[in-house]
Amino acid sequence: MAIVSATEMVNKALEGHYAIPAFNTNNLEWTKCILTAVEETKTPVMIQTSEGAAKYMGGYKLVVDMVNDLIDSMGITVPVALHLDHGTFEGAKKCIEVGYSSVMFDGSHFGIEENIEKSKEIIALAHSKGVSVECEVGGIGGVEDGVASAGELADPAECKLIADLGVDFLAAGIGNIHGKYPADWAGLNFDRLAEIKAAIGGKPMVLHGGSGIPFEQTKKAVGLGVSKININTELQLVFAAATRKYIEDGKDLEGKGYDPRKLLKPGSDAIIAKAKELCEAFEAAGKA
Ligand SMILES: [Zn+2]
Repeated sequence: MAIVSATEMVNKALEGHYAIPAFNTNNLEWTKCILTAVEETKTPVMIQTSEGAAKYMGGYKLVVDMVNDLIDSMGITVPVALHLDHGTFEGAKKCIEVGYSSVMFDGSHFGIEENIEKSKEIIALAHSKGVSVECEVGGIGGVEDGVASAGELADPAECKLIADLGVDFLAAGIGNIHGKYPADWAGLNFDRLAEIKAAIGGKPMVLHGGSGIPFEQTKKAVGLGVSKININTELQLVFAAATRKYIEDGKDLEGKGYDPRKLLKPGSDAIIAKAKELCEAFEAAGKA
């Protein structure tokens, strides 16, 4: 089975009160580990790349080919969507052209008028090719933006304007943050989440910055209409920790421990274990 649009899997998640895990990938190992985890747990999945990660791997076309070839060679049976995370206007168009099955257009840094105009154009182009679309309203906080303890909150009225364009799922700030959460983080704002959901009706919502949010908070968010949760940092942290341990234990100096297939194995195993844990936590395991 080749990659599929994410519309059906995310809508099913909304109906079934669970969330599709959307894991960012960085390379071949990452992609194989995510696919291994979701196949073993029978989880529908979105594999996503930032524009930077796709460039790092050799370009959008290479990512499309890699994911489709791995689905084939690994005998993957669960639905897999390949999604562009935080796409620019040009990046989203390019991904639609070369075969991504889902794209995010992030116009949140534009004024709402320009965000609407550009979102409208991407939605029309994507839907003409059977590609699902995520758009964003308001920013998502992040330490790199100088926001430390609280993420941004989107305006429900602006969320409705974008939802009404026919977007498939909507990202909106509800106090979530990209990267590691600070110790004094204020938590998700469930009142704002409920207000946005009431404004946008039946549209599924996306929770960005899903790494490290306590499971009781993600569970409550899913109950309020979040149907896709983005995970990037959490897999990076477990990979780095396991790789660090391998080197610090001197394993790369024993026998052929320097072989990249051996060197990357502990980190890869850690990604698989963490991804499986998240599939279970989001209650998406067994839904494929
Ligand atoms: Zn994000």
